[in-house]
Amino acid sequence: MDLGISGKTALVCASSKGLGRGCAEALAEAGCRLVMNARGAEALEETAAHIRATYGVEVVTVAADIVSPEGRARVLEKAEGAEILVTNAGGPPPGLWSDWDREDFIKALDANMLTPVALMQALLPGMMERGWGRVVNITSRSVKAPILALGLSNSARAGLTGFVAGTSRQVAEKGVTINNLLPGVHETDRIRQMDAHESKATGKALAEVSAARAAGIPTRHYGQAEDFGRMCAFLCSVHARYIVGQNIVLDGGETIATI
Ligand code: NAP
Repeated sequence: MDLGISGKTALVCASSKGLGRGCAEALAEAGCRLVMNARGAEALEETAAHIRATYGVEVVTVAADIVSPEGRARVLEKAEGAEILVTNAGGPPPGLWSDWDREDFIKALDANMLTPVALMQALLPGMMERGWGRVVNITSRSVKAPILALGLSNSARAGLTGFVAGTSRQVAEKGVTINNLLPGVHETDRIRQMDAHESKATGKALAEVSAARAAGIPTRHYGQAEDFGRMCAFLCSVHARYIVGQNIVLDGGETIATI
């Protein structure tokens, strides 16, 4: 299927690895020019070189912390006029509800709510003026059903979801759609680290930990960043113009809910 977005500029934040990279690759496959970002320059340059060589698209890289105002300003400078925005950043650490103080909450809100809000505030006006735009926020299945150890994530992402619910309805008449993608367990560094952590804590073999996690998913396997990226690219396509303010769960059916 031709996604109809060849030649458009897409800013994909936090995209040297994992789900962000999956989105960047799928958008490059659809012919988009990319602005890619991550803090670490080495992995970012490696991924960008791979994408240029594989898909033949222009890729601009900005090594910066997307959560810091200075880093974000550097990214936005290179992404002026972007027609597609994919927001992403690392998730907050696990813990117990009684562990966190105000600073912890502010950090989580900054990374997983206020940063995507600031990025949208910067790029939505241009999209609306031009009469076309797409925003996809990478959030988490914790929005649909809380993950008990991830209270900071549950809280911050719920805030972003509320912002998108209202704002998406205010910009849709200008040809701009905003939607959220809610990942469940995907095979990325983050999940590998979590499995390694559990293996160390319980003394179980890493393969046993991963197999047990996979057994709790109706598909019985982890998601792949490539599949996640293709869903993102579809939401950014011309064909997705009637999908507005939705929260799409990609979790192999793990979240038990009727709708
Ligand atoms: P990942 O494999 O660890 O990759 C994270 C990517 O984001 C890397 O490229 C990293 O590069 C970049 N990054 C992190 N913080 C950044 C920052 N402040 N500024 C710029 N770039 C940054 O993580 P992932 O699994 O793809 O997860 C992506 C998001 O989805 C996270 O918020 C995570 O909580 C959420 N999520 C993931 C899963 C899953 O199963 N994988 C499930 C639910 C939710 P640098 O470190 O070099 O900056």
